[in-house]
Amino acid sequence: MKKNIYYSLLISAMVSVSAAEETRQVDKHEHGVGELNIAIEGNAIDFEFFIPGADIVGFEYEAKTESDIALVNAALEKFENFDNIFSLPESSNCNLVNSEIGINQDDDHDEHDDHDEHDDHDEHDDHDEHDEHDEEAHNEFVVHYSFNCGNIKEIDRISFPYFTTFPNSGELEVQFVSEIGSTSFEVEGDEPFIDLKGKI
Ligand SMILES: [Zn+2]
Repeated sequence: MKKNIYYSLLISAMVSVSAAEETRQVDKHEHGVGELNIAIEGNAIDFEFFIPGADIVGFEYEAKTESDIALVNAALEKFENFDNIFSLPESSNCNLVNSEIGINQDDDHDEHDDHDEHDDHDEHDDHDEHDEHDEEAHNEFVVHYSFNCGNIKEIDRISFPYFTTFPNSGELEVQFVSEIGSTSFEVEGDEPFIDLKGKI
């Protein structure tokens, strides 16, 4: 069973994540690998991040102590300003129209009540490495940003200050889709950008 938790100090930034995300299996993620979906349609560009808590604050249990809650809130505040996470070319004239910042918490205690999720592991032979984490909690930062752009075709590169904002971060696996087609990138801190020339 999954539940979404939100931290009271940043209530204003918090919104519900969709039902589809609630069924996402947080414990299947790989620490050190954040996922980013970028979609361009018309003049709109959307960013959707799913990043293990380990990559952001260094832990994934539900923050309960003051110091842990402070770490989580500091991270949420950084996400509130997308300039900390990525940057778009100024000439594209993109304006943020919506953002949603939250945490999807997979509660470890539920595993002791029922063993449903062990059936899931059997179906995925390639996820052996996660078995050792069965008794741990997992969570993800789930963050959406939507922009409208005056000159969306001017987006030839997206840079990711994300890697310096969050020193625990690993790589970002980027799935990019536009009306031209789709492509993917693996981005790391030593080359923190993607080149989109000819892809929009
Ligand atoms: Zn995890």
